[in-house]
Amino acid sequence: MVGLCDSAGMKVSAWHRAVRAASLLAAVMGADTSAFAADDGDFARCLSELRPMAQREGVDAAVFAKMTAALQPDPSVIDLLDNQPEFKTPIWDYLASLVDDERVADGRAALAQWRTVLDDVQRRFGVDPATVVAVWGVESNFGRSFGKRPIVASLANLSCFGRRQAYFRGELFSAMKIVQRGDVPADAMVGSWAGAFGHTQFMPSTYLRLAVDFDGDGRRDLVGSIPDALASTANFLARGGWHAGEPWGYELRLPKGFDAGMAGRRNRRALSEWASRGVRRVNGDALDGPAAGAAVLLPAGANGPAFIVFRNFDAIYGYNAAESYALAIAHLADRLRGGGAFETSWPTDDPGLSRVERRELQRLLLERGHAIGEVDGVLGAASRAAIKVEQQRLGFNVDGRAGQKLLHQLRGPS
Ligand code: CA
Repeated sequence: MVGLCDSAGMKVSAWHRAVRAASLLAAVMGADTSAFAADDGDFARCLSELRPMAQREGVDAAVFAKMTAALQPDPSVIDLLDNQPEFKTPIWDYLASLVDDERVADGRAALAQWRTVLDDVQRRFGVDPATVVAVWGVESNFGRSFGKRPIVASLANLSCFGRRQAYFRGELFSAMKIVQRGDVPADAMVGSWAGAFGHTQFMPSTYLRLAVDFDGDGRRDLVGSIPDALASTANFLARGGWHAGEPWGYELRLPKGFDAGMAGRRNRRALSEWASRGVRRVNGDALDGPAAGAAVLLPAGANGPAFIVFRNFDAIYGYNAAESYALAIAHLADRLRGGGAFETSWPTDDPGLSRVERRELQRLLLERGHAIGEVDGVLGAASRAAIKVEQQRLGFNVDGRAGQKLLHQLRGPS
C-alpha cells in the first residue's frame, strides 16, 4: 500500500504495517475490547459533520446521503484498529502460509490463464507476469478472498471514532468518489476492515491515484475486472520505481565473520563493495545485478537466510511497507518462475505451517472437541484459543502459535 502522511505529517508506514499484517494474517488478532463507547446520536452527528467535508472533496450530496443512509455504529471495527497481535509473527510462519505449494500451483494456473493480458501488461508497464501474479496471490489469493466488510461502513466508523480519523476520512471520501465515478457499484465495495478492497486490495485513495482501465470498458474496476486489477498492480510498481528486467535480489552466502551491522535495506552499497567483502550468491557464484544501490537483508538475524536486494525490492516494499511482505512477494515470484525454496534454513527448530497444514491442524482441533468453526486454514481467535489449551495440556509454551511441533503432537493418539 501507500506511504501516506497523516495530519501530523508522520509517515503511516508503521501503522500501515500493523494494519496490513493484521489483515493478511487475521489469525493473530487478540480479543481485547476497546474503549469504544459511541451511541447512534454520536454517529449521526459525526456523519452530518462529514457531509460538507465530503462535498468540499468532490463527493456529491446525493451520493453521500445514499451511501450513509443505513450506516450504524460498529464497535468491532474500532476493536480491530486497537487490537495488537498476541505475538510477533515469526518470518518463517509468515512465509510458510503465504508462499506454500498451493499458492505456487494456483499462481502458475493464473499465469497460464491470463498470459495474454499479462504480456500486454508487461509491454505497457515493464513489470513481469510472475511479479504481478505474486502480488495478486498474496493480496487476495487470486481473487478468492477480498475481505467481507462493507468498506464504506467501516471507513465511516473509523472516520468518527478511534485513532487516525483524519486519515480514514480521506479514505472514506475516496471510496465514495470511486462509486460516484461509476468505477465500482456501491454494493461491491467490500473488503478488509481497514478499507482495502478488490483483487489488489488497494486503499481507496491509492485506487483513485493508480488504478487503470485495462480492458477498455471505460471503468477502472479492481473488483470485477482481472485485467484492470493486474494492470493496476503493475502501474503501482512502475510508479513506485520498478525497473524492467532487473532482479529484486537473490539469496546470499555470507563470508565467516560478516559484520551483521552492515545489513539493512537502507544501507545501500555498490555491488562491487559487497563482492570485495566476500559476499557471494548462495551457490558460491559471484554477485551480479544492478551495480549500485544493493543492500543485504538478514530477515531473521545473522543465523538465518541472507539476501541481496536491489531497487525492485524497494518498489515491492512500497506496496506494503514491510520487508517480510516484500520478501514474500519476491520469493513467490521466484517460485512461479520455477525457483525452489531458500537454501538456508530459518533459525528455528519449529518451522511454520502451510495452509494445507493449518487446515489439518484445524481438523485435529475439531476432532478433540474444540469449537473452532470452519476449517479454512486461517488461524483466527477461536483456533488460537484452542491451540493454547492444547499447548497447556502438552506442556508447551502457551502462546497460541502453531508450528510443526504442535501439529506432529496432535497427529498422535488423543
Ligand atoms: Ca475496465
